[in-house]
Amino acid sequence: MSQIGVTGLAVMGANLARNIARRGVPIAVHNRTASKTHDFVSEFGSEGNFTGSDSLEEFVQSLERPRRIIVMVKAGAPVDGVIEDLVPLLDKDDIIIDAGNSHFVDTRRREQYLTEKGLRFIGTGVSGGEEGALNGPSIMPGGPRAAYGEVEEIFTTIAAQVDGEPCCAYIGADGAGHYVKMVHNGIEYADMQLIAEAYDLLRHGIGLDVPTIKGIFDEWNTGDLESFLIEITATVLGKTDAATGNPLIDVIVDQAEQKGTGRWTAQDALEQGVPLTGITEAVFARSLSALRDQRKAASGYLAGPQPGGLSESLVDDIRKALYASKVVAYAQGFEQMASAARTYDWDLQMGELAKIWRGGCIIRARFLNRITESYAETPDLVNLLMAPYFRDAVADAQDAWRKVIVSAVDQGIAVPAFSSSLAYYDGYRRERGPANLIQGQRDFFGAHTYRRVDKEGSFHTRWSQDGTEVKTD
Ligand code: NDP
Repeated sequence: MSQIGVTGLAVMGANLARNIARRGVPIAVHNRTASKTHDFVSEFGSEGNFTGSDSLEEFVQSLERPRRIIVMVKAGAPVDGVIEDLVPLLDKDDIIIDAGNSHFVDTRRREQYLTEKGLRFIGTGVSGGEEGALNGPSIMPGGPRAAYGEVEEIFTTIAAQVDGEPCCAYIGADGAGHYVKMVHNGIEYADMQLIAEAYDLLRHGIGLDVPTIKGIFDEWNTGDLESFLIEITATVLGKTDAATGNPLIDVIVDQAEQKGTGRWTAQDALEQGVPLTGITEAVFARSLSALRDQRKAASGYLAGPQPGGLSESLVDDIRKALYASKVVAYAQGFEQMASAARTYDWDLQMGELAKIWRGGCIIRARFLNRITESYAETPDLVNLLMAPYFRDAVADAQDAWRKVIVSAVDQGIAVPAFSSSLAYYDGYRRERGPANLIQGQRDFFGAHTYRRVDKEGSFHTRWSQDGTEVKTD
């Protein structure tokens, strides 16, 4: 009998199954198209104890009870389809684990549905792409705590390990795991956009060539910015195109695609009322990049400065701007998770979340240790920017940050993530902002009332009548 099963043997499911089998865990495998199961077993069968099944019935019967079934199929309706097919074949307390990129709202719905059927459901975020799935991903499981206990040993064994600790921890009830994975992906969007803006300034603002920029990213990867994304940026920039002999980056079309997790993060931030500007700007920047034909037409039509000629002394300022903006992106992402924890009643452990992102996943970075330490020092930290370490780091970077954004604006180089992050920082540190005027306007046109700094209660000015103020509650 197999201890666990995986259905869905495309790249992610196949690699996860191999990762599990390589740890000596007997595993059952299944795929809708049976030929893929055969191909999988013949190619990788020697790596472990696999039981391949053509039918879902056989697959289920080959599993120990309570059955543990990882569903790794295309996100969306296929997950519901597989669940529907599995339900009549399972017994009470069996566990279905959805390890794909499902929307947390779907996970909450599925968990409720399966609980009613006497089954258990774990919606788990898995990050790290195909490489991570094979060699050690970051795993973010959500669902009933007791159900997680049944898979904990396998999950923590196959996860990436950092400083002897697995990059896997129980996140919380129902959709918590997929929620945290969603925000992880949102932060990934922001991080990538910030790096792209830094590259743009180095390339078109200062006018550096690609090999020089590659060297700069290599160097940045030895300091505070050390991370997987900075590392692969240098690798991508170092790649020569075989067809043209030029840097590959110069033949890649400048339209960023998206699968939707960044958009979900931004949508949820709007729902929760969390000011998630960095991630949201990153999503919009991808949308703007997609308008390639319009941009082409506008480039010779709309007026603006010609970039170029910035001093090379700005390179280190750009590094600092990148770091400060990155702090803001994480501060916002963590704020969003804290808000979701209140909304959905999840006991999210912020420091733990940063810890399990230290390895295996796309946003793994040295920086995450500092986040874990900050939450360890102040468990009820309201915003990462308020942690002494990050407060000081941003204070140190802020002159450079402002200088870089001013230079970019002057040059006509769009830096939406850099500048929105700074706008958030400046807005956040203002004791009194300009929203008093917005309240005055709202009261004028819609009698929406306002509160006063000197008295309790709500007030309305009779703007179109005698101009007197009345207390409304
Ligand atoms: P795909 O998202 O490409 O999905 C293909 C798999 O889904 C195949 O096994 C396919 O079976 C199966 N499938 C599709 N429709 C159905 C259906 N209606 N019923 C049953 N099976 C179906 O696979 P990936 O491996 O790329 O991704 C799997 C999951 O992991 C997705 O949720 C994806 O978003 C996520 N993912 C996560 C990544 C990460 O970094 N964490 C990276 C990539 C993906 P068949 O062979 O019969 O067509």
